[in-house]
Order: sequence, then structure tokens, then C-alpha cells
Amino acid sequence: MTIETDKTATVAIHAGQAADPYTGAVIPPLHLSTTFVQDGIGGLRQGYEYGRSGNPTRDALQAQLAALEGGTHAYSFASGLAAEDTLLRAILQPGDHVLLGNDVYGGTFRLISRVLGAWGVTVQVVDMSDTDAVRTAVAAQAPRVLWVETPSNPLLRISDIAALAAIGHEAGSVVVVDNTFATPALQRPLELGADVVVHSTTKYLGGHSDVVGGAVVLRDDALAEKIGFLQFAVGAVSGPFDAWLTTRGIKTLPVRMRQHNENAQAVAEFLDGHPGVARVYYPALPSHPGHELAARQMSGFGGIVSVALESGEAARRFAESTHVFQLAESLGGVESLVNYPDAMTHASVRGTEAAVPVEVVRLSVGLEDIADLLADLEQALRA
Ligand SMILES: *Cc1c(COP(=O)(O)O)cnc(C)c1O
Repeated sequence: MTIETDKTATVAIHAGQAADPYTGAVIPPLHLSTTFVQDGIGGLRQGYEYGRSGNPTRDALQAQLAALEGGTHAYSFASGLAAEDTLLRAILQPGDHVLLGNDVYGGTFRLISRVLGAWGVTVQVVDMSDTDAVRTAVAAQAPRVLWVETPSNPLLRISDIAALAAIGHEAGSVVVVDNTFATPALQRPLELGADVVVHSTTKYLGGHSDVVGGAVVLRDDALAEKIGFLQFAVGAVSGPFDAWLTTRGIKTLPVRMRQHNENAQAVAEFLDGHPGVARVYYPALPSHPGHELAARQMSGFGGIVSVALESGEAARRFAESTHVFQLAESLGGVESLVNYPDAMTHASVRGTEAAVPVEVVRLSVGLEDIADLLADLEQALRA
């Protein structure tokens, strides 16, 4: 039975998750089989033939992702970058141009400039939170792809998805939004006019730091067919167990995001104005330049808070002094993490225009008790 609703909490739990028709199992089985018996040559049951071309557990995840983002097609992959690679190959030809935000995920810039660049794709970066700068860049050279990441990492800049989609469409661009930081629980780019949403499901969607994966969600049938072909022909699919874990994580996404929002807000307010803290980057704060846009475009401000200390040395000491916040790359899990971008996640962009200030520390605020999180930050700031 399918449940007719567009309410996110219900969709997250039920989309693609109908009970098993044979046994009544409430949780659909994890299908590990690589191949499927045919009833006579070509007589496929439910269309399943071979694990790379299709798998019921992966299909369940894809149905869940499409419903959550308000798309009609979703494809899941072995990582966020595998999803991006397949999407870009489906759109781009040699000679095409890509316009990227100047603070997009470093791996996205590396993929386009170093891997696709060798195949004749050109790339330019611009401040995507500056809509006029984007309009000028698009007028100078129409991009085949306009790639937006909002909120951005680690400075939480906010870009206007609806305005950028209008600018991109006028120039014939495919407008892609990396929705990893906000998740469909807080932001729905397809409804704001974007053509494609990509995810690193490794982060909030999986949500438990135990599975790497990625996804592409869209409504355009023709582009979807090309992506489906490349998913099959290139083969960077999610394995069944990865898909199953991701589906399991997504069921609690809306409730986790509510608590991430609440804890992050408390952390941001605690740090804002604290002695030793020079600046807090969190879009819920009225002082944040993207505050009003974020309040309009998102239904919550998310779980990432960045903070500038008084010096690079103070920032490094702070990042190495927390205990509940564990020092590690990645983000979006139930546990709190602290990251020093300049020497960790963003080391590859040091010295470029995408470099992160040495004073900045990024916090992925988890779901622990807020009193423990604030006490941990307090003792680290005193260290
Ligand atoms: C982590 C991340 C990616 C890359 O995803 P992987 O699953 O690590 O391949 C892409 N975009 C954003 C915003 C990310 O945080």
C-alpha cells in the first residue's frame, strides 16, 4: 500500500518502504543477490536481471530520496562524488563551461577542474551568494552547468536558489544544487526552481557516520534517462547494504534535523560574544549576512556552526582541546565533530581564493545533551 502524503516525516518513513508482500515483514528485506532467475529467456520478474542494473534495496532508497526532494527520479551511488561525476558526464560535452561557487566542496572543484578538465571542460568560480556577480559571470560566458551549494562549507554563506535558477535558465544552464548541508528536511531546491539536487548521503541523510554514499534527484525525464544509463554503464552504484543503511538513517532525518537545529542554535548563541571568540558563522544569527534569505528559503538553519578565534594558533588549540566534539573530518552524524579546515578538509585549497581563514574552526553539532556540548566548548576555550 502506498501512503498518499507530502509530509516530510511520513514520507521519510514510508516512501519506498511498503511491507514485504510475501512475508508481511514491516522492514523490506535486504536483497544481496547479484542475479535474478528468469522465467524463460528475458522473462524478468519485476524487471530485475543483474545487481548493477537494478536491485530492490537500491530501488527502495531511490524511491525514498525522490519522494523526499519532490523529484520524480532518484539515482543512488557509491559516494557523493560518484553521483556528481555521473551527473556531470550526463550533461557535459567537451568545450562546455561550468560556473561554481567559490566555496563549494573542494572535491567538487577538484573533480571538475582536474578530472573533467582533462576532457575539455572549463570551470570558473564566483561568489554565489552575490547574485549580481553571478549575473555578470553568466552574461560573460554562458555555463552549461550552474552549480550552487547553500549553505556553503565552512562559512555558511547563503545563496538565493530561486534567483540563481532564473539567471541560469535564461542562459540555458542546468542549475544544480548540492543540498548536503540543509537536507530535504530543511530545504527543497527543486521546488525553488533548481533542475537537479545532489547529495553526499554520507552526511546527514545516512546520519550515523557508518556509510559513504551519494544521490542525484530530478524531475526532467530526458536527463534522468541519461543518468540512469550512465549509472548502469559506468557502474558506481550503491551496494545493497549501503543502500539499506542509508534508508534506515533517512527514516529519522526530520527528527534528527530538528534536534541538530536546536543544539546548533544553542552553541551559536553561547559562542557569540564569548571572550576569545572573534566571530560566529551561523545563519540563524541576525548578524549573519544571509540570515533573512535563509529564513525565507530554509525551514531551519542546520547543524553546522563555524567560529573564528583570535588567531590561527588559538583556533588549532581550541580544535585540539574538545573532548565531546571529536577531532575528525566529515559532518552530519549523531556525534559532534570538530574540524580545523585550513589543515584538514580544506588543506587542498590553502593559498587559493577558496582558502579558509586560519582562525576558523568548524563544528558539526551532534545530538548529545546540550549541557555537555556547552561545557565541552567552555573548557576548550579556556585551554
Ligand atoms: C562530503 C561532501 C561531498 C562529497 O561526498 P562523498 O560522499 O564524500 O563523496 C559533496 N558535497 C558536500 C557538500 C559534501 O559535504
